[in-house]
Amino acid sequence: MHELAICQALIEQVERVARQNDARRVISIVITVGPLSGVEPQLLEHAYPLAAAGTLAEQATLEIETVPVRVRCRSCSAETDASANRLLCGACGDWKVDVIGGEEMILKRVELETSTSAVH
Ligand SMILES: [Zn+2]
Repeated sequence: MHELAICQALIEQVERVARQNDARRVISIVITVGPLSGVEPQLLEHAYPLAAAGTLAEQATLEIETVPVRVRCRSCSAETDASANRLLCGACGDWKVDVIGGEEMILKRVELETSTSAVH
C-alpha cells in the first residue's frame, strides 16, 4: 500500500524532530499535499494510525492541507493556479506551462509535548 509507505516515512521524519527536541510525544502533525503529488489525502488519513502505532506520534492528530497546482506560462511568464487535470495558463490560456507547485508533500508543522518539568 503506497500511502502506508508514505506515512511511515512521514512518521520517521516526525520522530526525528521529536527526538531532537526531547519530546515525550507528538501532539499534532500538519502536512501540505499538492494535487499532483500522487498522494490521496483520504488514504493517507486511513494509513496514518497504522504507521503511527507504537511511535511517539501514536496519539497525534494528522491535519492535511491541500495546496493548488501552480504553473508558469512559457508564453506570457504569468504564474497562476491551475487544476490538476487542466494545466493551462490562467492568464492567456496557453498549454505550454511548467508546473512550479502542487507536486509536493511537505511536513509543515509538528507540535510536540516536551518534558519541561525536570527532576527524575
Ligand atoms: Zn500565459
